[in-house]
Amino acid sequence: MVERFCKHCNSVLIRKPSDRKTQFLSKKFCSRSCNAKYTTQNNPRWPGFRMAHGYKLLRLPDHPMANSDGYYAEHRLIVEKHLGRVLSRGEVVHHKNHIRSDNHLGNLSLLSSNKEHRGVHHNDLLEIMTEYWTPERREEQSLRVITLRRKKFWSSRKK
Ligand SMILES: [Zn+2]
Ligand SMILES: [Zn+2]
Repeated sequence: MVERFCKHCNSVLIRKPSDRKTQFLSKKFCSRSCNAKYTTQNNPRWPGFRMAHGYKLLRLPDHPMANSDGYYAEHRLIVEKHLGRVLSRGEVVHHKNHIRSDNHLGNLSLLSSNKEHRGVHHNDLLEIMTEYWTPERREEQSLRVITLRRKKFWSSRKK
């Protein structure tokens, strides 16, 4: 018997006892979900990408680092085109303005490891915090805390 493969995920098609031979031979997908994915992705009106966790993923089944669904992150591809090479798994592309879908080259920076990436995010956060906590805000906040404490103190006394 000839082995037949799913048109979407390439897994071997299994003939169920209920499938008649002709039925099995006309079968193109392993599952309903593969059928649905294949149909949407081969629709000429399909935009060719999908969003995941705020990132834009392009359908690039031929890319060496594409995931099992054949998708690859656009921000990585843009840096790769710029450098003229494929990024390694360890390399991370960071969005400078923290908007994960803002993939213009000026917003992207290449970091050599996840550790370095965490460091950048930590520093960015510190910067935002120091910008936010101006001396005036600090003062205001401590006054607010004191007033709250006073209120609590007096309300507990009344009882
Ligand atoms: Zn499949
Ligand atoms: Zn980042």
